[in-house]
Amino acid sequence: MSFLDKIFPNTLPTVEEIEAKYKRRNLDDGAKVTRIAPSPTGFMHIGGIYTALICERVAHQSNGVFFLRIEDTDTKREVEGATELICSSLANYDIIPDEGFDATGREFGDYAPYKQSARKEIYQAYIKKMLETGLAYPCFATPEELEKIRHEQEVSGARPGYYGRWAKYRDYPIEKVEEKLASGTPFVIRFKSNGSYNNKVVIQDGLKGKINFPENDLDIVIMKSDGLPTYHFAHVIDDYLMGTTHVIRGDEWLSSLPLHIQMFKAMGFKVPKYTHIAPIQKMDGDSRRKLSKRHDPEADVRYYDSVGYPRTAVIEYLLNLANSSFEGWRRANPNASYKDFKLELNKLSPSGALFDFVKLNNISKEIIAKMTTDEIFKNTYDWARSNDEKLLKIMDENPDYVRAILSIERTGAKNSRKDIAKYSDVLGEITYFFDDDFSLSDDAKSELKSVKNYAELVNAYIPMFNENDTKEEWFAKMQQLADQFNFAKNGKEYKANPSAFNGDISSVVKVFRILITGKTMSPDLSEIQHVMGRDRVLSRLNSVNNI
Ligand code: GLU
Repeated sequence: MSFLDKIFPNTLPTVEEIEAKYKRRNLDDGAKVTRIAPSPTGFMHIGGIYTALICERVAHQSNGVFFLRIEDTDTKREVEGATELICSSLANYDIIPDEGFDATGREFGDYAPYKQSARKEIYQAYIKKMLETGLAYPCFATPEELEKIRHEQEVSGARPGYYGRWAKYRDYPIEKVEEKLASGTPFVIRFKSNGSYNNKVVIQDGLKGKINFPENDLDIVIMKSDGLPTYHFAHVIDDYLMGTTHVIRGDEWLSSLPLHIQMFKAMGFKVPKYTHIAPIQKMDGDSRRKLSKRHDPEADVRYYDSVGYPRTAVIEYLLNLANSSFEGWRRANPNASYKDFKLELNKLSPSGALFDFVKLNNISKEIIAKMTTDEIFKNTYDWARSNDEKLLKIMDENPDYVRAILSIERTGAKNSRKDIAKYSDVLGEITYFFDDDFSLSDDAKSELKSVKNYAELVNAYIPMFNENDTKEEWFAKMQQLADQFNFAKNGKEYKANPSAFNGDISSVVKVFRILITGKTMSPDLSEIQHVMGRDRVLSRLNSVNNI
């Protein structure tokens, strides 16, 4: 067809040359090849990390290959620096592609280029062949013509799209094609679908099971007027040439699946297995909705660093969202790497996982609780360096004191304290050890005053206070005070006869906790007293007489 030479440069490689260059992969039985194919539009959604983690686990658990492809054919939406952000985010979360791009954005791998804009010739070689074999045709429809079709379809109640009798350029005579091209009329290339909407096809999805679809009959655009392919076409060519065995992607692509499968078959390519993952959702009042970039800061991967979640906590949380069995596995294997957990793709929730901060925090608290004081100090310090000047200053000026604070109920403890979910929580756990910002809030004061004889309790304790008391020695003093001021030994005794007591021992402890920490909850008070030191504790205890 002579018009082909007008469309494509004569330097274009042939399909045979391309296929000779990109050899079929030589894989072990059962090895899966997966990929993520993000578009560099400026934002790394937590859902992108979720999908990447799933793809990476599925590939590596099977001795397969996981690669990264950058889908940048929509040049209008591309944002500078977005590719670098994708590469660095994956590396930060230890999701390391075997091919594609490394943490710094350097390209590597046998199937390069892995950036679609650099694969133009490859797509065009296939498109040329499709034009030769009647699988595609040039379409000269102007925006006005397309608008007119849309309008007529709307008025007549016809299905929208370019198909059947609406596909005016499908059988356009060759002389006219030549004429249009000669006159420089803009055009796109469309796929010539052989499907019929009235036929049903049954498609198997890895998660959603068997789904019935009408066959695709749309002649979709495969090459845009700028010579670049559309997603649909690039997906087919790239995943064929790169040997993807399992396409795992967002379920917004599910409705395009009949088209994709039809194209794979029309080209004579083996169809990969597809699994469509529902987006991570969130409860909004009584209803569920997708995590949204506009409304939810946690949609952006950078959020987790900015508030200081350890990255493994985020990954373990995502694994937990993917497979609820992760939690039990983690309990049974507290020290194993999460990479030893066998992720099962078919156990994901077909309707979408629900994001839950409480769960994330619990997972993160467990992970931080396993760290040593030095590790927490270092991680908090590194986080504070770019995120919290005040905390950084405190840590710089008082490193030993902060270490001592962080080691309360941690160093040597049977069960390490679990009150820190993220490094930004640390400031709140240490500021009350300093006098600068320490004062009792009105709530704390009224809570304190709600305990009968609170001042007498404190004044009776001051002479026996010893900052070196063990937990047991300290508690014995609390019991002694309880006795002396008529507080029950425990809640049970108090409840049995409330009018006989001023309260129970927890009220006694509360008085001291509030005076010393300003809070109603804190780690072990005897350890706190020890770390705070005699003078500071005594001055706080004495302040009871000025409230
Ligand atoms: N570029 C597509 C997207 O970002 C990729 C979908 C796929 O994984 O095939 O949604």
